[in-house]
Amino acid sequence: MTDVIATNETILVVGGGISGMTAAIEAAECGKQVILVEKNPSLGGRVSQLYKYFPKLCFPTCGMEINLRRLKANRNLRVITLAEVVGVSGGAGNYGVQVKVSPRYVNESCTACGECAAAVESEFDDEFNYSLNKRKGAYLPFAMAYPQRYVLDPRIIGTPDAERAKAACKYDAVDLDMQEQVLELKVGAIIWATGWKPYDAAKIQPYGYDRYANVITSVEFERMMDPFGPTGGKLLRPSDGKEAKDVAFIQCAGSRDRNHLKHCSRICCMASLKQSTYLREQWGDEGKASIYYIDIRAIDRIEDFYQNVQADPNVRFIKSKVAGIIEDKATGNPVLEGVDTEGYHRYSNPHELVVLAIGMEPSVPRDAFPMEVVVDEHGFIEADAANGGIFAAGCSSDALDVNRAVQSATASALRAIQVVNRVAGAEG
Ligand SMILES: Cc1cc2nc3c(=O)[nH]c(=O)nc-3n(C[C@H](O)[C@H](O)[C@H](O)COP(=O)(O)OP(=O)(O)OC[C@H]3O[C@@H](n4cnc5c(N)ncnc54)[C@H](O)[C@@H]3O)c2cc1C
Ligand code: SF4
Ligand code: SF4
Repeated sequence: MTDVIATNETILVVGGGISGMTAAIEAAECGKQVILVEKNPSLGGRVSQLYKYFPKLCFPTCGMEINLRRLKANRNLRVITLAEVVGVSGGAGNYGVQVKVSPRYVNESCTACGECAAAVESEFDDEFNYSLNKRKGAYLPFAMAYPQRYVLDPRIIGTPDAERAKAACKYDAVDLDMQEQVLELKVGAIIWATGWKPYDAAKIQPYGYDRYANVITSVEFERMMDPFGPTGGKLLRPSDGKEAKDVAFIQCAGSRDRNHLKHCSRICCMASLKQSTYLREQWGDEGKASIYYIDIRAIDRIEDFYQNVQADPNVRFIKSKVAGIIEDKATGNPVLEGVDTEGYHRYSNPHELVVLAIGMEPSVPRDAFPMEVVVDEHGFIEADAANGGIFAAGCSSDALDVNRAVQSATASALRAIQVVNRVAGAEG
């Protein structure tokens, strides 16, 4: 890696999802020097793992392409992938930051031809598809990955597979001697955009995510619908590969529950409404959705979307907190049990597939930040003067949709610019 030039007029953005990319681009387009660090091998975050996103139901590739174009065109912006901040010292206008950069084992000469992947034999769970399938030990994380550069999984280093990858590469792009590096950066302000992660569904014992193959999470459902995903875009049951046309959605799975996440994750109602439209799209009149909910929280202008879904006779709303799921051994169908709180009827409803509208929690746990930062009771970063020149963007500050995440990112870019402008003013 070449030297990274940074001064206390530089803004560091941590996390390369939609929020981090937006904050970095906005600040760089205002003429500021920006370094964007992302722990994964490529940018895009969790939006790139969605099939489509509301409100317009566009493909994430389209928003991603616009951002990448702006990002590539800006010489003020430097992207470092496979990088994590491990230490922060100092204060606003004068931070010292240590960034650990893991080796990719593939250099800039990579043309993304894929020969290395064809040559290696080992396979690992595919993180991009939430482990629903396997990928090779040499891989491109996803079709639109930026940078368009393959990665060697560190688990193949020192094995014959690593040598196979090297031998297969005609461009001398595989570098097995790459080492971990720790960069020491001086920056004036930090935008923290590390986003969210899905709550661990296995912890919600009554729903049997770890026992029943046909109980999946909402994030997995997004990957299954994607033509580039693990099932090639076909909604197939994990247990037997049968088409899943009658699908139940369980709202507040892990959210608004004192045993799990206390907060409302705010997005999962909209996510299930959106996902119910995927069933129509895939199966036409045969696609049926049943949404089990406590109350539907659809956010402002997205109310229209809710009304359209409500008008669909193939979408059923059942006001109930599902008590538990059992499995019908003969059919493999999960059977939902509970009480409908509108009619006070007990139900025992079989469905072909169950989707848990899983809660969103901060991706960095409250005790894992490499710096002092004020967080709320759920672990999201607060806007607090005590944070100095550190500003949260997007889902590191709350469970937000893309629209709100982008607004929050733009606001944090502005605050960070104000900090480095003060430095420039004091020095000038
Ligand atoms: C099932 C589901 C469906 C959804 N569908 C929609 C939708 O249709 N429309 C919509 O508007 N919203 C939707 N959302 C919400 C959407 O996913 C978020 O708004 C969006 O992901 C927020 O982006 P972000 O950049 O803040 O966080 P993220 O997407 O989580 O990005 C954070 C980035 O930071 C990186 N990172 C994490 N930790 C570190 C670290 N320590 N160091 C460096 N980098 C790090 C991550 O690898 C990631 O790239 C959905 C959410 C769910 C749960
Ligand atoms: S590392 Fe080499 S073989 Fe692998 S994709 Fe890149 S150029 Fe092709
Ligand atoms: S957004 Fe809906 S499903 Fe998600 S926690 Fe809030 S009420 Fe429950």
